[in-house]
Amino acid sequence: MKDTRDFLPFALPDIQDEEINAVVEVLKSGWITTGIKTKEFETLFAEFIENNDNRDLSANNYIKNHKIEAIAVNSATSGLHLALEACGVGRDDEVITTTLTFTATAETICYLGAHPIFVDIDKETLNMDINQIEQKITPKTKAIVPVHMAGLPCDMEQIIKIARKYNLKVIEDAAHALPSMLNNTLIGNHDSDAIVYSFYATKTITTGEGGMIVTRNKEIANRCRIMRLHGINKDAFDRYTSNKPSWYYEVVAPGFKYNLTDMASAIGICQLKKAYAFYNRRLEIAQRYFEELKNLPILLPKDVVNPNADIHSWHLFIIQLQTHTNRDEFIKYMSDNKIGTSVHFIPLHMQPYWKNRYHLKNEDYKTATAYYQQAVSIPIYTKMTNDDQSYIINTIKSFYTLGL
Ligand SMILES: *Cc1c(COP(=O)(O)O)cnc(C)c1O
Repeated sequence: MKDTRDFLPFALPDIQDEEINAVVEVLKSGWITTGIKTKEFETLFAEFIENNDNRDLSANNYIKNHKIEAIAVNSATSGLHLALEACGVGRDDEVITTTLTFTATAETICYLGAHPIFVDIDKETLNMDINQIEQKITPKTKAIVPVHMAGLPCDMEQIIKIARKYNLKVIEDAAHALPSMLNNTLIGNHDSDAIVYSFYATKTITTGEGGMIVTRNKEIANRCRIMRLHGINKDAFDRYTSNKPSWYYEVVAPGFKYNLTDMASAIGICQLKKAYAFYNRRLEIAQRYFEELKNLPILLPKDVVNPNADIHSWHLFIIQLQTHTNRDEFIKYMSDNKIGTSVHFIPLHMQPYWKNRYHLKNEDYKTATAYYQQAVSIPIYTKMTNDDQSYIINTIKSFYTLGL
């Protein structure tokens, strides 16, 4: 059986003819950088977040006067950088985040000359341990960057309460959290200063590379827009369509080159419309894993508390192997059987740069260290067939019956 199978990847983008046609249309239009498609994507994205659970979003269904502003960027990494900058994070400031995240969360803090201060995770949610935030706050602390790990929402009410008490900014790394919901409130609608999404190839919706900043704060939105494109005080698109002379622009800061192309935005528009359809398929796959793997010596991921009011995006399905099984052998066994897996993440306190730069010790991050030894992300993506999933489940079961 295994020899005739194609390799089942750990993640796979869901690109259909409509995305392909949308890109071709942009290519033929003559405008291939940031333009009307990106504006449309931003408008739809703001609407998507604001409308909370609008599950039949259509392109003609615009809402004027958004309270939310969405700023498209070429990656979540760029988005985090811009959001932190716009929130005033600068040299020697401290920003509290989790050790269990992708290095982009921390590196963007360093771009600004500030320092990431890592907290350990909560054993059940894998999100930052909220009880450890306050003890890390110093007079230099400027912001908190929570990460909704795997798509399970952080307790934003608690985090924002702490931030208010100490006058800190909150920038959510929502790379995994589209759509995630907490107490009937979609991630993106809490009272944070900025929320940053990723459209990287493996994320719940994709534009190949891309990201989005969402904020209700006009000053933050304006600053992100300006810094996104060379510190120029107008978008390139406005520049070429406004009544001002087309050659005129003003540079007001040494900005960055973080804008999203219209090809990418055209893909994003198609993907966003399918976000809940994608979510429903991910949920189905997650539910089947819960059902089929529950009797194995595996710790399954924490689900949301109230399925009527909360959403886990199921960007990742992370299992933790229990005693007497070797995680690395499990990964090799899966790979030998043509199944891709991954590890999310090697905690940052264990990565050479962060560990050495800040003298971080495993004993100060006991929960994340223990989690890392046994964690594996198994495949979850919309294009997976039921037969694919049966094969994955049977392969996992065979790992245990073989007593490896
Ligand atoms: C993917 C990811 C990012 C970076 O996203 P890019 O769009 O690739 O820059 C940031 N944070 C987390 C937690 C991620 O998983």
